[in-house]
Amino acid sequence: MAGRFAPSPTSALHLGNLRTALVAWLMARRTGRQFLIRVEDLDAARVAAAAGTARQQLSDLAALGLVADQPVAWQSQRLEGYAAALERLRPLTYECFCTRREIAQAASAPHGDGYRPYPGTCRDLDPLQRARLRAVRPPALRIRAERAVMAVHDEWAGTVTGVVDDFVLVRNDGVPAYNLAVVVDDLDQGIDQVIRGDDLLTSSPRQAWLAGQLGGSPPQYGHVPLALNQAGHRLAKRDGAVSLADLAAVGLRAGDVLGLLATSLGLAAQGETVTLTRLVERFDPAALPRSPWVVDPRTYAEYANNRSIT
Ligand code: GLU
Repeated sequence: MAGRFAPSPTSALHLGNLRTALVAWLMARRTGRQFLIRVEDLDAARVAAAAGTARQQLSDLAALGLVADQPVAWQSQRLEGYAAALERLRPLTYECFCTRREIAQAASAPHGDGYRPYPGTCRDLDPLQRARLRAVRPPALRIRAERAVMAVHDEWAGTVTGVVDDFVLVRNDGVPAYNLAVVVDDLDQGIDQVIRGDDLLTSSPRQAWLAGQLGGSPPQYGHVPLALNQAGHRLAKRDGAVSLADLAAVGLRAGDVLGLLATSLGLAAQGETVTLTRLVERFDPAALPRSPWVVDPRTYAEYANNRSIT
């Protein structure tokens, strides 16, 4: 039994990511599970830069005490696992030559999360049509989901039901798609608890369905409300002091940041010094705040100043 945190090494972890990692760690500990970390570095074009970013992310997590119980897994080193899964799924797959624009034109309106269900354009191409299209552009690989209706249980959102479209398993540049990699890895690593940001809530029926196709069971899901900036948009690097390095520059140490995150989760009083051990004792999943965390980085310098006076 294990839970996990699975960052993509695109940029330094910000307060929202760190807070989700903390909740994932607390949930794992609270429920007697191991805590694993997986670096989701499949995006080939970015792999060179990604290794450095990933190491920084791991070091930031470690600074907060969030350390994996097993060696960190790197998706770029797990390609054989995806290939083996694809072999099993092969009878359900088909090549898709659609561009993003073609899908946008043919599909119904995007879902609230921006995802466009695939309208099935390439599902029944005959061999001649396929051969012609292959000469034009390389195909992606999709899975026939037959519009399966899948319900999952989320620790905080309750029951989430989704219609599974024919989603992509392999992108047309040959890279395993996120939905495939995440499901294969969670199954292979024995992960049965998935805690992550609630921007991925609507992906969970799709992933739970795929787990079933691979002979596995869906994990327990818990999607944590995101961190927002003052304008109500998803927190980002440009919002000021939001990474551990930026926060250190305005005088906040890792321990202060842990305190800040704990306060945002209702697990500590403002300015209180906390330890992970203490936080696990206090953590009650049922009491997790259900609305987004609105972050105001301008207050952190003030926080640091007050702390050094007292
Ligand atoms: N790598 C994804 C991200 O950073 C998370 C994937 C997951 O937790 O399933 O957004």
